[in-house]
Amino acid sequence: MAQPASSNFFLDNDDLRFQLSRIDWDVLVDLQERMFLDDDRFHTGREAKAFYDELLTSLGEFAAKEIAPFERELDEQHPHFHDGVVDDAPRLKKIFDALAGLGTMGLTLPRRLGGLNAPNLISNTLLEMLTRADASVAGHFGFYGGMASALMFYSADEGSVTYEGGVPVKSRFDAEISRIVAGKEWGAMVLTEPHAGSDLARLRAHALVQKDGSWRLNGQKIFITAGHGEHHVVIARSEDEGTHPGLKGLSLFYVPGHIGANGKPCAKDAADARPNLIIGGIEHKMGQHSAVAATIHYENSYAELIGQRGEGFRLMLVLMNNARIIVAFEALGTCEAAFRTARAYAEERVAMGKTLARHEMIADYLDEMDIVIRGLRAVTFEAAFHEECGMRIKTILKSNPPANADARKDLDRKAKQHTDRSRVLTPLIKYWGGEEAVRQTRMCMQILGGIGYITETGAEKLLRDALVIPVYEGTSQIQALMALKDNLQAAIKNPARFARDIAETRLLALSSSDSLEKGAARMKMITLSAMQTIISRVAADKLGGVGKKPIGQWRASLTKEWDPAVDFSFGLLHAERLTKLLTWSHTAEVLVTQARSVAGTADADERTEIAQRFIERFEPRSKGVLIEIEATSGSLLQRLLGRSPKKASSSSKAAAE
Ligand SMILES: Cc1cc2nc3c(=O)[nH]c(=O)nc-3n(C[C@H](O)[C@H](O)[C@H](O)COP(=O)(O)OP(=O)(O)OC[C@H]3O[C@@H](n4cnc5c(N)ncnc54)[C@H](O)[C@@H]3O)c2cc1C
Repeated sequence: MAQPASSNFFLDNDDLRFQLSRIDWDVLVDLQERMFLDDDRFHTGREAKAFYDELLTSLGEFAAKEIAPFERELDEQHPHFHDGVVDDAPRLKKIFDALAGLGTMGLTLPRRLGGLNAPNLISNTLLEMLTRADASVAGHFGFYGGMASALMFYSADEGSVTYEGGVPVKSRFDAEISRIVAGKEWGAMVLTEPHAGSDLARLRAHALVQKDGSWRLNGQKIFITAGHGEHHVVIARSEDEGTHPGLKGLSLFYVPGHIGANGKPCAKDAADARPNLIIGGIEHKMGQHSAVAATIHYENSYAELIGQRGEGFRLMLVLMNNARIIVAFEALGTCEAAFRTARAYAEERVAMGKTLARHEMIADYLDEMDIVIRGLRAVTFEAAFHEECGMRIKTILKSNPPANADARKDLDRKAKQHTDRSRVLTPLIKYWGGEEAVRQTRMCMQILGGIGYITETGAEKLLRDALVIPVYEGTSQIQALMALKDNLQAAIKNPARFARDIAETRLLALSSSDSLEKGAARMKMITLSAMQTIISRVAADKLGGVGKKPIGQWRASLTKEWDPAVDFSFGLLHAERLTKLLTWSHTAEVLVTQARSVAGTADADERTEIAQRFIERFEPRSKGVLIEIEATSGSLLQRLLGRSPKKASSSSKAAAE
């Protein structure tokens, strides 16, 4: 085993524990406990945090001792498909039996259903540790508690939760959730079809409503992780394409794996259970071998509508936003495994008179891996905290709002603040996490030299397992398009605010007395300059010369006869470059804020040094990216598109939307 032995993946990771210590537990625990008001709830953040630390310590030990040592076995064992049934890889099954015994399937679920009512942040921290041990285990794990929490959320969102004295006592999916918490069943998130992955507007699977209000679903879905699970959340077309084209015609459905003699959902092991869907086969993947990715056929399958007709895309986005945050935690676990493997080898192996770790280029790789992991973790925890708070406040407002109007208004304002922040950060961490997981596992292999290419070391497994991270839950390119769209739209809609932001950032970059703050401001200024360049070029291509006008006059020019999908080529070309700049400057800002927030404590020096190291590496890199954007000539675009930039392909429309 290449990864150095550890007895506990929680206790051996100071940075992970530091990030947990920075969370405002009073806020998070209050929101979490307010939803259920159990008798045995935590009353303070401190009390809850002490319990979560203990829990994560024991789960960190489990990951280190009961999963990591079996990573090779997990890689060599594949699930088997026969007669429409999938048999899980034996080691994976054994690990999941043990995880169920530890109560991990219900970490985030209400206590009345057998769960622990812990925040998602705790289950995400576990997920990082599981991925560090083995990516297949982590991939499968997400479809237990994650799917059960989604079912719980959907029930609250659609108004099918029953309350007693303001406390939810029953949800639409209680029976299903209880079986997941017991570790007997799991779910699947079902979107992708053979002809449509990123472009959900092209989905073809369709559902028809029946007289009794239930639905029948038909269609084929592919690459479904844990698709042999019992609880499918499926997006499919429910409306006429003529009246509700593209995304507007999609709805979300709950599809059980089995139905009973009465035609209604039932437990898989019920006496009268029969399959409600067909597993067409499982994929032979290059990595994450123990995890299942299945083809599913729905043939007149019983389905139940979740929420309202036509709301499918909105509802699926909630699940996907959360899944993107989860993937960033997977990326962190992957990077952590790669870094530790590489560092241990480099500190042992001697070449040309000294260890590899003391040769400049290798030392530089290791330093880069270390600082990127710390930056990625800081910004991922920040995104996860805000996503969770925003989601919980919105659920409270929708399902059980306070009677007092001022209190409602206050919650509304807080929900918006949290959601805005998570919306900015989520595509960035999914993008950066995915790309870094691949880059760092590749660096790890390189540091190991020839032996890294040999299967025994596990380094090549890390790379194979990592390669899908920039692909699933929205590819890197799709994340970049989202980041581009949100940031540019905000600037175009409110040019005065954008101009003010530029002025304030420039002032800070020039005159702040705090060198860290100054560095972070310089990085932000580079990002804003890139946005300014992109907007000017897009505007100039469209309207000829508007880019030379003062920013305050852009709005009128840009909104007049403006079709962002067609006129946006220059922006679309540089979406990934802008996303890098946004990611690095937000990370610098978060690291500087953290360093300043621990001033005067034992952590102060270390956190200041981390922020300094990050800025030192990423400021020059940002300048290089800005130069690439600024230097792009019109002829490059013409060559890429085979036509004038003004007539950019309308196929980019779905992506820009
Ligand atoms: C192991 C594994 C597990 C998976 N698990 C699940 C699951 O559980 N549930 C599920 O529903 N799906 C799952 N998927 C599917 C996955 O989410 C899709 O593969 C992914 O969304 C990409 O879709 P696609 O493969 O159709 O590629 P496409 O959408 O065809 O994209 C191909 C390439 O083109 C790029 N591209 C597409 N549109 C644009 C654009 N407008 N601008 C620039 N570039 C663009 C993409 O970024 C990508 O690089 C899984 C896939 C794998 C491999």
